[in-house]
Amino acid sequence: MNRERLKKLGADKRFIPGIYNYCDRWCERCPLTSRCLNFSISEEEFSDPETRDIKNEKFWNKLSETFRETLELLRESAKEWGVELETLDSKENIEDIKAKDAAVENHLLCRAAKKYSESVEDWFKEREMLFFETAAAAREGVDLDEAIEVIRWYQYFICAKVMRAVRGGLEEQEVEGDEFPSDSDGSAKIALIAIDRSIGAWAVIRHYFTDSTKGMIDIIAFLDNLRQAVEKTFPKARSFIRPGFGQIDPNG
Ligand code: SF4
Repeated sequence: MNRERLKKLGADKRFIPGIYNYCDRWCERCPLTSRCLNFSISEEEFSDPETRDIKNEKFWNKLSETFRETLELLRESAKEWGVELETLDSKENIEDIKAKDAAVENHLLCRAAKKYSESVEDWFKEREMLFFETAAAAREGVDLDEAIEVIRWYQYFICAKVMRAVRGGLEEQEVEGDEFPSDSDGSAKIALIAIDRSIGAWAVIRHYFTDSTKGMIDIIAFLDNLRQAVEKTFPKARSFIRPGFGQIDPNG
């Protein structure tokens, strides 16, 4: 996509600014695709099935072309706003970024969220016969497939968003008197939504697997503790209204 097309899309009033910052990236299930610039660009850019295949060279060519054009656009905008992008690469900035990376990696919340992702992976690895279980569950009217899909979708997403929230929190401490809603609360909010949905999905699985619940109960309890810790660290997160989603759900 060339720069002019990107600019034109960027100026289209149909799109809700920043809607994709606090969503769960599950576009297949999103009710707001028509209001999302990110979705629109993906649809245009990756309309050819080969460009959607991560193993195909066309995918990587397309991705690098999009990055290149976006970067050029960013450079143009930075120039208009009088921002020197080159100065952002200074030694102090790089050191600062590295220090923040380390602080985020070592933060208790981030380590707990990572542990959750790993526990989920182990749990599923130990249940190679789950495929047969889902078929049996479907016959009994239990939608195990749906519950598994939800858990798998959010398995790594939770950690990514918790890390972004922690990082945002560190950066916001350095900026006093910022009147904008905080990015850390928005990231924590979508992490909490993902945790809520995952706990709901685990409850479905637990209901079905009555004979092997020990490991599962540990995972649910761990996730619930993580939820409480995120709420405590980001007390305003639950009331953060996500762009776009707040219009279709008051708790959005
Ligand atoms: S807002 Fe919806 S359509 Fe846009 S990236 Fe997020 S999930 Fe996908």
